[in-house]
Amino acid sequence: LKVVSATPIDDENLSDEELRPSTLDGFIGQPRLKAQLSLFLNAARKRDVAPDHILLAGPPGLGKTTLAMIVAKELEVPIRITSGPAIQHAGDLASILSSLEAGEVLFIDEIHRMPRAAEELLYIAMEDFRVDVMVGKGPGASSIPLTLPRFTVIGATTREGMLPSPLRARFGFTAHLDFYPHEELEKLVDRSAGVLHITLGDGAAEELSLRSRGTPRIANRLLRRVRDWAIVHDLDQACASDVKSALALYQIDSEGLDRLDIAVLKAIVTNFNGGPVGLNNLAAMVGEESETVETVCEPYLVREGFMMRTPKGRVATDKAWRHLGLQPTKNVRE
Ligand code: ADP
Repeated sequence: LKVVSATPIDDENLSDEELRPSTLDGFIGQPRLKAQLSLFLNAARKRDVAPDHILLAGPPGLGKTTLAMIVAKELEVPIRITSGPAIQHAGDLASILSSLEAGEVLFIDEIHRMPRAAEELLYIAMEDFRVDVMVGKGPGASSIPLTLPRFTVIGATTREGMLPSPLRARFGFTAHLDFYPHEELEKLVDRSAGVLHITLGDGAAEELSLRSRGTPRIANRLLRRVRDWAIVHDLDQACASDVKSALALYQIDSEGLDRLDIAVLKAIVTNFNGGPVGLNNLAAMVGEESETVETVCEPYLVREGFMMRTPKGRVATDKAWRHLGLQPTKNVRE
């Protein structure tokens, strides 16, 4: 018996879908959020109406898309999926809205990246279930109001602060997803290993969960890399030491920090003597978009105490210096 079965689930995207739990019960962790959402959905079901609009906020990979799909499934309604950047003109959104069925869920990922005109159209549609469709061009153009059936918008955002307040106010339920504690990620790794037919030895799931930056998507991705390692080394099962060796190859360190996290900390420490440094300077130094540094790296580095956000800029903590094997200089503030 080998670690991996012969079932062809090689495609990364396919297995991503395969790893998505399809019920609220199957969704691991986030107990408070699950209880709130369950109450909210039950009430809507009992009242037999489409529930209020839902906003899901939090760093990438924590389960926003998964939750949106679960909501649609629990309500037994279809789901339409789009994203802020995919909506280039208000007209794109108008045509989606005017084709929605009663009760349908409209999932808008990265909702903070929609053009302004589309945002305005969206609030009206969310509040009054109406969309104004423009007919004709130039001076002869007129707008025809079209009544929409009740539907539910689920917006996902990694930057809640970027949403204009009138749009934010249209959501009746806002959930903040937070990084997962190790024990929960360990359960998730065990579950995913089962789905992917990977046999993990003692301590392997724990080792993986400790290196996954509190993020389910990363845990699943690293699990696949451990699977590759086991296949290549012809192992019956992957043990904790295999996890360590496999992940060292992918430059994931003992704290679960990846190449970009380390680059950010190194830049603050070596180029800016520990900070403070502004976000844009920091992003330029590591060759990444500011938004990536802000939404992907920083939340975890701040939470784990490697970095602080101060009014003057980003500062590396003592812990960051020590993690890089350096002696903190005197301008460091913990
Ligand atoms: P987001 O939309 O927040 O970026 P996703 O919903 O796409 O994140 O989740 C990323 C992956 O992690 C998915 O493939 C999903 O299978 C898995 N995942 C996320 N949260 C959970 C959870 N709570 N329980 C089980 N799997 C999860």
